[in-house]
Amino acid sequence: MNKFEDTLFQTVKHNSLLFLEDGVKRIIDYGGKELYDIIVLSCPSIQISLELAMKAFVLREKGVRFLVKRNKKGVEYTDEEIEKIYNEKRLLVKGFDDIKKQINRMGNTKLRKEDYEIIEDFQNYRNKLVHFCCPLAKEELSSFRENLMYYVVHVVLCLLYDNYKNLKPAEYFEELLGYDFFRILWNDYGYIRAIEQLAKEQSKEVGVCPICERNAYSLDEEFCYFCNTYPNDGEWGRTHCLACDGKKTVVYDRLNIHYPKNHHSMPGFCQHCEAHPQIFECPICGQTHWLYSDTYDWMCYDGHCTTENKDYPVDNS
Ligand SMILES: [Zn+2]
Ligand SMILES: [Zn+2]
Ligand SMILES: [Zn+2]
Repeated sequence: MNKFEDTLFQTVKHNSLLFLEDGVKRIIDYGGKELYDIIVLSCPSIQISLELAMKAFVLREKGVRFLVKRNKKGVEYTDEEIEKIYNEKRLLVKGFDDIKKQINRMGNTKLRKEDYEIIEDFQNYRNKLVHFCCPLAKEELSSFRENLMYYVVHVVLCLLYDNYKNLKPAEYFEELLGYDFFRILWNDYGYIRAIEQLAKEQSKEVGVCPICERNAYSLDEEFCYFCNTYPNDGEWGRTHCLACDGKKTVVYDRLNIHYPKNHHSMPGFCQHCEAHPQIFECPICGQTHWLYSDTYDWMCYDGHCTTENKDYPVDNS
């Protein structure tokens, strides 16, 4: 992007987020209004936010020429001409359907085939509600409301994704949306579901986060898509799960396990089945097992390492 394009991109992105915040805040905080009314009010903002996010995306990926309508003779403007007519406030930008088709043709975008279907569905519902005032059943309204948040995360935020700083998803969303707005989203079930879905699509193995308890922790990438929890080096130990057979799905606090009086054991948590075993880790050979459940006689125990056949003092102070 040249300097002009970058300024334009930042403005379009900023405005997209403004409309997004307006639409989403209305849905989350309905202030006693009917759900139908709230959705009717929030749809236009979310639609404008999407249109701007698409423009920002084309601008960033292809440049401003791909957004601007051709001149009367059907010839593309040059970058210099575009900047000039923009300053004269005469710039004409392509319509939503043209831009949508263009993004579709660009391929390898962050939007999948299903996302285009979601965009179509959203527009159909929006037209029914806003323009034709169609009555919708309560269940239809609730499911539309939940899907709106999925739409916000998977379509709008993904289009705006320009993560030059290589932030993790939760850090990126916080930076993009601002701390206050980001924290408001945290308690929204539609947002929670959308982030859990995002984690599932992006990771090989997803489990429950031991901190926020959302099903958004990527075991292969070792961080939570929802709350951004991740272990520092050596902070968490991992062991097998006797309840669900998960391999290394039980996490425990390794940093404090050999702290005096802990008797080399700490509570564990299985990220697959949410079992809460007590985990023992031998301070001599490092072997781990479930205290009171694993019953093999070759296991190490507090005061004795069976692997190396060594005794050590037990701390009973
Ligand atoms: Zn978490
Ligand atoms: Zn388990
Ligand atoms: Zn041992």
